[in-house]
Amino acid sequence: MIMDSSIRAAVKCSECGRYTSFHINLFEAKRPTSRRCSCGNIVFKVSATKGEVDIDIPCIACGETHRYKYKIKDLIDKSVNILACPVCGMEIAFLGKEYLVDDMVNRYMDDMLELLTHLGVIDKTKRWVIK
Ligand SMILES: [Zn+2]
Ligand SMILES: [Zn+2]
Repeated sequence: MIMDSSIRAAVKCSECGRYTSFHINLFEAKRPTSRRCSCGNIVFKVSATKGEVDIDIPCIACGETHRYKYKIKDLIDKSVNILACPVCGMEIAFLGKEYLVDDMVNRYMDDMLELLTHLGVIDKTKRWVIK
């Protein structure tokens, strides 16, 4: 089976508000892995079991740590997954293909998604998924 299990992630730091981006190899995440922002804050934890991953992200918007569960296959198949705070809807992370994730970060640096959410274009209760 040949499958690229590596995805790009960009996470908004709950301490300094900057995006940190990195690659994650989901099959290697069987050993729980975490990533830090350049400010030293841990922004992302991932652990994989039986084809699923648990992702913990401390949320800049509400101060809680949110857990997101995905099937590894779904994460790899989808172009981009946007992880939003379930409380306020602010986007806190993007996962997916490198060029798309980087593009999202560049665009959403301008808080475009917040604007779209405000305008009702994006449903804040759901993860916004682009196929
Ligand atoms: Zn930081
Ligand atoms: Zn939150």
